Formats: sequence, C-alpha cells, structure tokens
Amino acid sequence: MRRTMSFLALSCFSALAFATQPIAIVIHGGAGTINKSQMTDAQEQAYHATLKHAVDTGYAVLEKGGSSVDAVTAAVLIMEDSPLFNAGKGAVYTYDEGHELDASIMRGDNLMAGAASGLTHVKNPVLLARAVMEKSEHVMLSGAGAEQFAKEQGLELVENSYFDTEFRYEALKKAKQSMQKVPHQAQNYRLNAPWQAEWNMGTVGAVAMDRSGLLTAATSTGGMTAKRYGRIGDAPIIGAGNFADNASCAVSATGHGEFFIRYRVASDICARVKYQGISADKAADQVIQQELAKVGGTGGVILIDHKGKVGWSFNTEGMYRAKKTEGEATITEIFKESSAK
Ligand code: ASP
Repeated sequence: MRRTMSFLALSCFSALAFATQPIAIVIHGGAGTINKSQMTDAQEQAYHATLKHAVDTGYAVLEKGGSSVDAVTAAVLIMEDSPLFNAGKGAVYTYDEGHELDASIMRGDNLMAGAASGLTHVKNPVLLARAVMEKSEHVMLSGAGAEQFAKEQGLELVENSYFDTEFRYEALKKAKQSMQKVPHQAQNYRLNAPWQAEWNMGTVGAVAMDRSGLLTAATSTGGMTAKRYGRIGDAPIIGAGNFADNASCAVSATGHGEFFIRYRVASDICARVKYQGISADKAADQVIQQELAKVGGTGGVILIDHKGKVGWSFNTEGMYRAKKTEGEATITEIFKESSAK
C-alpha cells in the first residue's frame, strides 16, 4: 500500500513537473536601419502580419505538444517564403546579381546541429539545415555538395531567379553605387561597410522551448547585399549566428556577420549565462550593447534561457521581432522605441 502511495505521489510529481515546463517562441526578421519614416503604413502592417503569422504558427506547434525543432522550422519556413525578408524568396543579391543562401539549426539537449551555406537552388534552406542535422553525419555542407544532398533528401529545388525581388535589386544597385564611392578593400569590408547596414536587413531566425524543456534555434539568410567571393556569414556558423544548449540558452542572431563570427556572439552569450550565472537578457546586452557596439558591430539577437525566459537585444535602429509566451498575447515589434522586453 505504502509503495503504491509513493508511486502515485511520484507520478503526480513528475506529471506536475512536466506540465510546468513553459512553452515559448521568439522570432526575428533582421536588424538594421529600420525607420518609421522610410516605411509606408501598408509595409509596416505587412511586416507585423507576417511576423504574427510566423510566431503564432510556431507557437501552435508547441501548444499541441510538438517539439521546438518543429516549431522553429515552421516559423522560419513562413518567413523564408515571404518576399519581405532576406531569406529564401526575397534574399539579397550578390555582387554578381545572384543569390547565395545560408541556414542553420541546433537543438539544446544533445547539441546536434546542421548547417548549409552558399546555396543557390534550395527553396527552403532551413529544411536542408535540418536534414543535415538529422540525416547526415556532418554538421555543415556547402555549395554543390549541399545541393546534391538536398536533392537526395527530396527537398524542393528552384531556379536561382525564384529568389528575385525588385526591392532587393534596387538595393543592390544602391549598394554598388556606394561601393564605388568607397573603394572595395578587404579591410574596409570587414570593419566598416556603410552600404550594408541599410540594405541587407531581413535575415530570419526563431528560438523556442517546448513542453519537454528542449531549446532549439534556427537562422536563415541571403547574407549581405553585394557580397562577393563566396562570402559566408555568421548565420550557418554554429556558435556565431546560432546556438542552443539546454544548460544555458538558445540564440539566433542577425547583423553584420563578420563581427558575429569574430565575436562568436551566440555561444558567448550562452557561455556567460552558464559560467557567470547571469540572466540571458543581461548576457545578451553585455555582448550586443557593449562588446559589439564598441567595435562597430551592428545587429541583434533573440533568445530564450533554460528557464524559458524570452528576450532580445539589438544595437540598431530597429529589429523585426515577435514573441509568444504562455498566457500572454502575441507581441510584434519593429522599431527601437516600442521595445518592451
Ligand atoms: N548576419 C547575416 C550575414 O552576415 C546578415 C544579417 O543578419 O542581416 O550574413
């Protein structure tokens, strides 16, 4: 009898413990010089609507007991398919007037990760990153080999022109004009590419925690306008533009990738949480508002810590972002002024 009672008590306790895991999702659609004055009301509404659709779709997966891997994939897919963002359809142009896409995904329980870079035909790079994580023995595949693997996995391939949009083409033209004024030099590009801040915005990312406490982060991008020489940014680099560890936090980044790689932004934020015991919000502010800001690295991050607390931090004028946590209404924001963590 006593044994039965303690078994029952234990089951109740674990059911309770299970039920108390908070579910949450936060997404971004890129950071940069995002001004109200440069945007029409209709454009602003379109961004809010797509962010809401993406974050609510991801949250619905979590609410039904789905995994955070499925939730972030669902949210990123919506943004990749929207021409508003610099990922999938609507990706920025390379200097040579094509598109090269990068993506990654990581889960925080076993630290498995997948990434793909320099893609020219994969319609949804996040699906390839996920296939690399789940179906290959590798972490990152690039270029033609990555696309061969995508084909073998039955993923949809498209003409490179599928990613075209008028708006991004105009951005490329402006970027090239600016580049003529500031001659292209490797050092210039790495440390200060003034034409980038305005025209590359729109990288997407999602971070979620599911009922089991699993943290997952995913990031997808077309990279930076007018990029050359097979340039790869931070988005597919685990620890730079994307990171997840159930022991600390999960982060997806957006911004000037060269800085995010050199300052290994995503893993640095999580390391601060893990080893200094500080909150993820505080760690993110230290890295984004201090470390990066002082060297001119522009951008931002979204994150969830191991307790399910959601946050974001950015040092640009705006960052497209949205979040949905239990018991709270969906929040979508664009500009700095409306920032409410
Ligand atoms: N981080 C991306 C890259 O450098 C660009 C962005 O987030 O805007 O490729």
